[in-house]
Amino acid sequence: MTRSITIGPDRTGRIVAIVGGIIAETADPAAPVIACADGEIAPGAVCAHTHLYSGLAPYGMPPANPTPANFIEILEKVWWRLDRALDAQALRASARDYIANALLAGTTSLIDHHESPHFIRGSLQVLAEAAEDLGVRALLTFGATERNFGRAEAEAGLIECGNVEETPLIRRLVGLHASFTVSDDTIRAAGEFCRSLDTVLHVHVAEALDDVEDARTRGYAGPLERLVALDALPAGSILAHGVHLTADEVREADRRNCWLIQNPRSNEGNRIGYPSNLRYADKVALGCDGWNADMAIEEAALLRLAATHGDDRAAGRLGSGQRLIAERFGFSAVGLAPGAAGDVVVRKDGKMTTVVVGGRLVVRDSQLIGADAAAIETEARAEASRLWERMASL
Ligand SMILES: [Zn+2]
Repeated sequence: MTRSITIGPDRTGRIVAIVGGIIAETADPAAPVIACADGEIAPGAVCAHTHLYSGLAPYGMPPANPTPANFIEILEKVWWRLDRALDAQALRASARDYIANALLAGTTSLIDHHESPHFIRGSLQVLAEAAEDLGVRALLTFGATERNFGRAEAEAGLIECGNVEETPLIRRLVGLHASFTVSDDTIRAAGEFCRSLDTVLHVHVAEALDDVEDARTRGYAGPLERLVALDALPAGSILAHGVHLTADEVREADRRNCWLIQNPRSNEGNRIGYPSNLRYADKVALGCDGWNADMAIEEAALLRLAATHGDDRAAGRLGSGQRLIAERFGFSAVGLAPGAAGDVVVRKDGKMTTVVVGGRLVVRDSQLIGADAAAIETEARAEASRLWERMASL
């Protein structure tokens, strides 16, 4: 497939040419043309940290009872039970529904962090197939952990990261759940695996104070220092949250060219605080941490919370995700400039009418191409009921 398409002119007269999946100076005269005289062309949005495995949660996930009292209880009573209940069918339905809604909201790249302890081998293939089939750009990783079955579990998780086959739409990352659920040996192994796969680490860092306290108990100044000491943070690594990093730690992450990903709705929902120190870094992007990947909603939450916390550097964070994607895929530009990813949307009256990812038309007239969003949702609802039954028995 040539992945060439020309979009426009839009109502401002802009024409964007995509040739071979990348934005080009000059259109391919043989490429199809998508007219959009009453819409506006914009770059696709990037969600820089999420969990496709939680995509069924909006379909009636029963609330934990009693209500979790803190962050660790939220993990133990909700997400760590959900991930243990996942099988291939539920994961596939979850990923497809999440991706379908992301594309319809104009989000063209998802940086995923996956966990399914009873279905490790083959799990990232399920996610890759969903991404390829519906046409979203994705960075995939398994968040290795020892919290259920120890070192063997972590080794299986790391191996699964390496099983991802890279394509024009897919890149693999090495993942750890978080410093507080892995041993020094696993962190060291993750660093070595990053170097052998020539990729970077994706890990939750200092999301809540528990992660910081755990690292201190193990003799490190904090989780960032632990990852650095064990040589597991290659330049470009992706650190989700960083809520409880000090200003100096944020500067250190930035100096190491790591990305910090802010997840405003998730942080607010989990009541873990606002990451005020992220203002000391340049490479800060926006994620949604399993909430729906409508990045306009996430950015509105960011700007609301930033205003109440005196954070004056929030405005560029959504756009920063494009730099992260360019870095991992090797694009020479961002936005709508020649050399950038051919990931483009057309907006009309606040709605996405057209979405193109890597030069492939995936949404037209606000409908998915080659897939039926209603059928995907029906499947998701059916799998959700099965999943809640399994969760109840865990
Ligand atoms: Zn997360």
